Amino acid sequence: MQMFLDGTGHDSLSGSSIPVYNPATGEVIDTVPAGNADDVAAAVTAAEIAQKKWEQVSPADKSRILIAAGALIRSEADALATLLTTEQGKPFREAKDEILGTAHVFEFYASMTGTLQGDAAVLPKYGYMNVVRKPLGVCGAIVPWNMPAIIFGWKAGAALACGNAVIAKPSETAPLTVLRLAELLVKAGVPGGAMNVVTGSGTVAGDAIVRSTGIRHVSFTGSVATGRSVALAAAPTLKKLTLELGGNDAFIVTADADIDAAVAGAVRNRFYNCGQVCTSAKRILVDAVCADEFVRKAKDAIEKLVVGSGLEKVNMGPLNNPGQRDAVAAAVDRIVSEDCGKIICGGKKKEGAGNFYAPTLLADVSPDAVSEEIFGPVMPVIPFTTLDEAVEIANGTPYGLGASVWTKNLKTAYTVADQIRSGVVWVNRHLILPPEIPFGGTGNSGYGRENGREFIYEYTEPKSILLGL
Ligand code: NDP
Repeated sequence: MQMFLDGTGHDSLSGSSIPVYNPATGEVIDTVPAGNADDVAAAVTAAEIAQKKWEQVSPADKSRILIAAGALIRSEADALATLLTTEQGKPFREAKDEILGTAHVFEFYASMTGTLQGDAAVLPKYGYMNVVRKPLGVCGAIVPWNMPAIIFGWKAGAALACGNAVIAKPSETAPLTVLRLAELLVKAGVPGGAMNVVTGSGTVAGDAIVRSTGIRHVSFTGSVATGRSVALAAAPTLKKLTLELGGNDAFIVTADADIDAAVAGAVRNRFYNCGQVCTSAKRILVDAVCADEFVRKAKDAIEKLVVGSGLEKVNMGPLNNPGQRDAVAAAVDRIVSEDCGKIICGGKKKEGAGNFYAPTLLADVSPDAVSEEIFGPVMPVIPFTTLDEAVEIANGTPYGLGASVWTKNLKTAYTVADQIRSGVVWVNRHLILPPEIPFGGTGNSGYGRENGREFIYEYTEPKSILLGL
């Protein structure tokens, strides 16, 4: 397996490797080099040289290259989706959606290369002011295992569109799809040294990226605890950070909502990717007048979900790794043992190979019992009696990433959307994130934004030039 994409194609200087497992079987499917600080330093050297050339490529040529990358990804969508399912666990259909979404991300960034303009003004007495937006240099992209393809796309697409070089560090439990995507970017025309991947563990390769003085920006997606340690480790270098640290999204179903649509939306979103999505509908708040009907209909829908290997015709695959499954099981056990909710269906691991956990519905859950996000296939239903109470519960965690409100009343929709403290609010939908939408959170969900137009401020810096009159 190739280590860097800087044209040298050499393996890790450490010489050791890390196995990659199929979460549905527990079998080893490949190995990747265990990159270390020397590997990161070598990648930085290659990236610094290539970035100076990439910066000089015209916006139109950058755009052509990113469009070509999108086309290459589309042309091997089935193979990439199979690879993603095999290392990550999600059903093939979801993997293919993610791969096609990743192609869309590069196409979106291709459309933005000509828009990176600054500002200008005549300042009487002082001169002509020009503010140009300059690339930052070398950018680190620390990618988690839950949606590795599209999250890599958000980070690499934005950095490259702005004229930066990229050093990506995928998670050790799902590095293969990212490696292949990076190869396709190089094949499309991104200079090899401008697109690097260093595989390895977070605490070694990831930490070296965060501490590198040659890397001027790190975009990190992962847990709050690791996000905090990344911010501390990066502080001496004064690099820019974009931190996306997960969420505990409220999904608010009002009494006037279309209950069938809300149930279908909640089940679709909560069990998508086996519940391992930062903006998954993690707390389902339902008006007490319709909570019983909601739970009954949700139970019917959940019991129909087919669980198994993502390469077969299933609705839900395994969790990505055994530690994740154990954490989910422990969270459910704690809620039940503390009498903070009751299991309506699921609530157990599947015996045998693979990291499977049954899709689980919990009713009458007390809000405090789910103040920490459950990153897995568990749907806690929390009844509420007034909209003010629903908003209070929704805002009652340290997170602030996403939320949705399900209602037919426009005033309710606007009022709740305005009062929820989060980076994004959906009305009558959840978890729709095309790259045109700026994405990121507040509070413990982190800071900075990916996508939309906001990426320009994350991946460039303004330079003011004053010409004397
Ligand atoms: P982490 O936050 O530990 O890992 C996320 C990424 O950061 C991975 O690429 C990891 O590499 C890397 N990393 C780990 N430690 C460091 C470090 N010290 N410096 C730099 N990079 C590092 O998440 P976990 O995989 O441990 O998952 C735990 C929990 O995090 C989940 O239960 C979920 O709550 C949350 N999470 C949230 C995600 C989101 O989308 N916001 C995505 C994934 C997890 P490696 O995996 O190789 O160690």
